[in-house]
Amino acid sequence: MNWEDTPAEAEFREEVRAFIRDRFPSEYVPDPEAEHSLEPEDVFGYNWPVDRVSDDPVRREAARRWAATLAERGWIAPHWPTEYGGAGLSALEEFILQEEMMRAGVPTVNGIGAFLLGPTVLEHGTEQQKSEHLPRIARGETTWAQGFSEPGSGSDLASLRTRAVRDGDDYVVDGQKVWTSLGQYADWLFVLVRTDPDAEKPHRGITFLLVDVTTPGVTVRPIEDIRGDAPFCEIFFEGARVPVANRVGEENRGWYVAMTALSFERAGIGATIKYEQALARLIEYTRSEEGRRYLRDDLGALRHEIAQRYTEIRMLYNLARYTVSRQATGEVPGYEASVNQLFSAELHQRLARTGAKVFGRYGQLWQRDDAPLGATFTHMRMDSVAATFLGGTSEIQRNVIATRGLNLPRA
Ligand SMILES: Cc1cc2nc3c(=O)[nH]c(=O)nc-3n(C[C@H](O)[C@H](O)[C@H](O)COP(=O)(O)OP(=O)(O)OC[C@H]3O[C@@H](n4cnc5c(N)ncnc54)[C@H](O)[C@@H]3O)c2cc1C
Repeated sequence: MNWEDTPAEAEFREEVRAFIRDRFPSEYVPDPEAEHSLEPEDVFGYNWPVDRVSDDPVRREAARRWAATLAERGWIAPHWPTEYGGAGLSALEEFILQEEMMRAGVPTVNGIGAFLLGPTVLEHGTEQQKSEHLPRIARGETTWAQGFSEPGSGSDLASLRTRAVRDGDDYVVDGQKVWTSLGQYADWLFVLVRTDPDAEKPHRGITFLLVDVTTPGVTVRPIEDIRGDAPFCEIFFEGARVPVANRVGEENRGWYVAMTALSFERAGIGATIKYEQALARLIEYTRSEEGRRYLRDDLGALRHEIAQRYTEIRMLYNLARYTVSRQATGEVPGYEASVNQLFSAELHQRLARTGAKVFGRYGQLWQRDDAPLGATFTHMRMDSVAATFLGGTSEIQRNVIATRGLNLPRA
């Protein structure tokens, strides 16, 4: 495989680099204490959906300005058609854009809306839904959160119990969602609800709805995690009225709409770059004066482990390139995306463990100011705990690869 840029791709890459250099707001600086969403693609020091509603007016305005700047080119939703505010970029151009933004350490904008909800509405939504929601996402004016999981319904999503009962032109929704990433910062939610409790197969009684967070009867409660951040929340629905016009796809066919959304969730280059940069910092540190003071005396024993992580990061890069090259020919990533997700999530944890080990007892320091290398790997260890859960657990990814990819018999 040859991943060299074609002349046109190299030219586009240069254009992106120049754009970031010239247009990224200088006052939008990384904040080491920024709340992380736990998504492996997040750029260190930023979390755009949080920044855009920050209490600090400088940060808030900078985040908004960055969104407006990207929107001028349609680069918030680069792959959407231009008529809805996208840039109509090819899968490879979009890959290059994301790669360069990650390498430059600048945040992407509106991830869940642009990369999950948008493509789903483009495929299954009504014209009214497209023209109402897509341009606003592409301008960075509205943010979205994904309300699928419930207490007791995570991997077994089809068992979800949040009810929606038709009443005239509305659905009346009652139930609870949980682990909704950044839901407390979102303007809108896309949720799965049960509309036919008697369906023979549970997944045939589910509907996909778009819900305005300010709807009476919707309550959002942040959940604090082990790090003291609140990257997700639980959401309660108590008699919330949602217009039937906000249904995406047919009633009781929402499962198939959701599967489209999830297929978009599992492709991406961002994580590779993040791991690559973290490992590069670690390697540089081991060679530095300061590094020699703080690192373990028996570092030699970890040399092979560091080399192994380097090799795995190269493999992940190749997996991401392979996936995008298939998307470039119009294919939707299926089980291959699960291969990426599984390998990426488990590598995230291995890399964090290797990094923390290299610092020996200093690997236990949490306060960034007190710790060598700003406690990067100690924080990464905590962040990475969720990696093998958040986009579907490792066991579920292996199930998908085994059954859909390898055609092994189902147990
Ligand atoms: C940081 C974070 C962010 C998240 N963000 C969102 C979000 O924005 N929106 C949203 O809807 N959800 C979100 N989630 C929820 C996430 O999708 C679920 O945690 C995940 O699907 C697993 O569900 P569960 O937690 O109920 O675990 P369970 O499904 O109860 O799994 C428990 C264990 O049993 C194993 N298991 C379950 N079924 C099988 C099986 N069939 N075969 C083998 N093993 C199995 C699992 O692999 C796991 O080890 C988030 C989770 C995290 C941690």
